[in-house]
Amino acid sequence: MPIRVLDPQVVSQIAAGEVVERPASVVKELVENSLDAGSSQISIEVKGGGVSLIRVMDNGVGIPSAEAELAFSRYTTSKIGSLEDLESITSLGFRGEALPSIAAVAQMDIVTCAVGKSVGTYLSLNDGIATNRRSQGRSQGTTITVRNLFRKVPARLKFLKSPATENSHIANVVSQYALAFPEVKFTLLIDGRVTLRTPGSGRLIDSVTEVYGLEIAHNMLEIGDGGWEGGAVVSLAKVTGMVGSPAISRSSRGYLSFFINHRWVSSRLLAWAVEESYHGLLMQGKHPVAIVNISLPPQQVDVNIHPAKSEVKFQNERLIFNAVQKAVRQALIESMPVPKIEAPTATYVAPSEQRELLWTSAGNGDHLTSLPLAPLQTPQVSLPVLRVLGQLLGSYIVAEGPDGLYLIDQHAAHERILFERIKDQRARQKIEVQGLLEPVTFEVNPQQDEVLKSHYDSLAEFGFSIEPFGDRTYLVRAVPTLLYKKDWVEVVREVLDSLSGGDWAESIAISMACHSAVRAGQALTDDEMRELIRQLEQAALPHTCPHGRPTMIHLGSGQLKREFGRS
Ligand code: ADP
Ligand code: MG
Repeated sequence: MPIRVLDPQVVSQIAAGEVVERPASVVKELVENSLDAGSSQISIEVKGGGVSLIRVMDNGVGIPSAEAELAFSRYTTSKIGSLEDLESITSLGFRGEALPSIAAVAQMDIVTCAVGKSVGTYLSLNDGIATNRRSQGRSQGTTITVRNLFRKVPARLKFLKSPATENSHIANVVSQYALAFPEVKFTLLIDGRVTLRTPGSGRLIDSVTEVYGLEIAHNMLEIGDGGWEGGAVVSLAKVTGMVGSPAISRSSRGYLSFFINHRWVSSRLLAWAVEESYHGLLMQGKHPVAIVNISLPPQQVDVNIHPAKSEVKFQNERLIFNAVQKAVRQALIESMPVPKIEAPTATYVAPSEQRELLWTSAGNGDHLTSLPLAPLQTPQVSLPVLRVLGQLLGSYIVAEGPDGLYLIDQHAAHERILFERIKDQRARQKIEVQGLLEPVTFEVNPQQDEVLKSHYDSLAEFGFSIEPFGDRTYLVRAVPTLLYKKDWVEVVREVLDSLSGGDWAESIAISMACHSAVRAGQALTDDEMRELIRQLEQAALPHTCPHGRPTMIHLGSGQLKREFGRS
């Protein structure tokens, strides 16, 4: 094909793709505009995963009637005027790209009434061109409606996930801004249901309660003295916010929120700084809950490096890293003279504190040995018969085979065994289920709520009996027997946090296996080790755990001879 100039409409759709990747990006841009307009109330309504409808309503300063069309042209903004302004951005938007980008890939209309005006303006746009305009009554503020997103860009539409997943991204965006702006009253309606509502009280803890629930809110510590207002000042940077006590650690980094001058950003540097502060306070593989805002002179940070403005570059990374780490560490030390690790909480049946071997975890005696051996009769990558010699460092089983020495990671090996068993039992609809003595309630965040709503069935197939029980609260009546005395709440959360992008069944099985397998550091008797090895010998893929890590190291007799210099 010869080189041609692209049709302007195609160009605008390509550019739009940078800003508007999915429905949640539209929500993010519109909410940012409402915040820039100084709104104290913002309601967001979505339908059909945001594809059929997104409506954002605010009570901000509105757009003067004469400027309404201009707001939808490319690179028009009221927020910066010159190149110098770009160096000290205080608003969330500044490129004048969002509205035209959205208009290029959806039908839009706007009703807006500027501050001090008694009548507003209605404008509707098709393919980015204003087709209809009239005066319309409205109190001060702006309502923007986006319909049929990506209808004319099938390539984009194809990449969207299920409405449940898109809803969960949207819920996450709104949750993050609700955390960043506790003084703003947010309401999120998804398919007619109120998914999130914050009071706009100005107190961060109130937003945390609405977004993450009471269990987390009860365990939050303030950074510095007094949340958003106080904070810890380290040279140029003021760090404010809240962090979770180590008692409420999570298995994913999804509970780390960072804001630079109240702009939601993702930053590995900041995540690292926070996690470093928890060094020694959390179990391995656990992550903290943290909501951290860094107030900086705008010249100290470049927000103009990413189309969605979600990544930033600090002028002095070291300074920011130290400021955050110090502020968080201080909050932890001050409030928790005696750090507790993973204290059980009141909202669910806590796993037994005692060290407990899996063998007895079902409460019926010899559990592991009483279960049938792994189902596969013809192992594909079989292990030879192994003789157990002993346990090393409380974590590895030392065994001898016909061809040398085997060091087996007991946790990884047990994970593999259980993973295959769980998958097999599920396939045969034979998952063993244990009813709880009393039903247990647990809370989820809006993002998890969206995922859970559409996945009861998958969870039920694995033995979880979960039903809705009011506002973002669920009732659990039964759990898989394997997890009965384990931290099954964590399994459910882990699975909900992994979203529905990947293979659900696989993630559930992996998480169940991981949480029910014997731990590293757990002493095993000779019988227990022998049983574990026997079951591993039967596994279809004994050499790796379900996460793909090796379960064993093999030192062949040839290698041993070479190592010891024998010929
Ligand atoms: P940017 O936010 O980068 O300026 P946008 O395309 O998002 O660019 O918006 C263009 C302009 O429209 C903004 O600069 C602002 O003046 C106006 N605008 C958009 N949304 C709102 C709103 N909710 N309230 C008031 N003004 C708005
Ligand atoms: Mg904007």
